[in-house]
Amino acid sequence: MKATVMYKAGDVRIENVPDARVINPSDALVRVTRACICGSDLWPYKAMEQSETGVVMGHEAIGVVEDVGEDVRKIKRGDFVIMPFAWSDGTCEFCADGLQTACIHGGFFGNAEVAGAQAEAVRIPLADGTLFSLPVAKDDALMASLLTLSDVMGTGHHAAVTAKVAPGKTAAVVGDGAVGLCGVIAARRLGADQIIILGHHPDRIALAEEFGATDVVKERGAEAVERVLAITGGLGAHSVLECVGLEQSTATALGIVRAGGAVGRVGVPQDPTIPLGDESFYKNVTIAGGPAPVRAP
Ligand SMILES: [Zn+2]
Repeated sequence: MKATVMYKAGDVRIENVPDARVINPSDALVRVTRACICGSDLWPYKAMEQSETGVVMGHEAIGVVEDVGEDVRKIKRGDFVIMPFAWSDGTCEFCADGLQTACIHGGFFGNAEVAGAQAEAVRIPLADGTLFSLPVAKDDALMASLLTLSDVMGTGHHAAVTAKVAPGKTAAVVGDGAVGLCGVIAARRLGADQIIILGHHPDRIALAEEFGATDVVKERGAEAVERVLAITGGLGAHSVLECVGLEQSTATALGIVRAGGAVGRVGVPQDPTIPLGDESFYKNVTIAGGPAPVRAP
């Protein structure tokens, strides 16, 4: 089969690789009908060290189940399924709590052991716990939207939930990528009154406004903080969705959250030393977020 293989920063090839197949009795084999590139794929694209074997990339896909292992009970051949970006057993304490990305038997797609989904097919470990099947036809007009449930929509939703978005409150979304835009949709769904999008790509900002953003802040850094404070009566936003993961975006998020507010971080942190700062302490800010449990019901 063909797959997208990354060998090092900037070196991505479409290659023939051994066919994905069921290996363990709890696996399923999914024929990928659509897959996409995540913002988090861009970090190895910028920084990955040389790999001799390369890594099959990708963790966002939908498709049709082609084969299942002998222990798989719920997922059937022919099912149309959404794969979350992490696999999970669906039975451990963390899965029961709705935090499938902390599953004690779980893991993340796209590494040396479990190949990624930017391929013609993908092996899904713990298929019964991981996959979500839906009664839709393969050519359904909703396919592009359903693909977002594999990662970005669930991640934007997680940012909104962990930032405690609530009816009548002000939410600010840092980042106008796919996750930021889904964060706008989520903030609106959860009832935010004012939704401020921080970004500077005209086409994405137009989408954000269509999705419910009420205010646009195109500035960056200290100027962005100033601008958000200006449009929130000097107080800042109750909820801040950090959808980038860089030092500057994190600093902006901490600068624009109001005292007693919450920051939901879902951008994969690119710098492990990102400082949380004195300011967030003195403002009594809740800092939450992490890999979204997109498989949660
Ligand atoms: Zn689990």
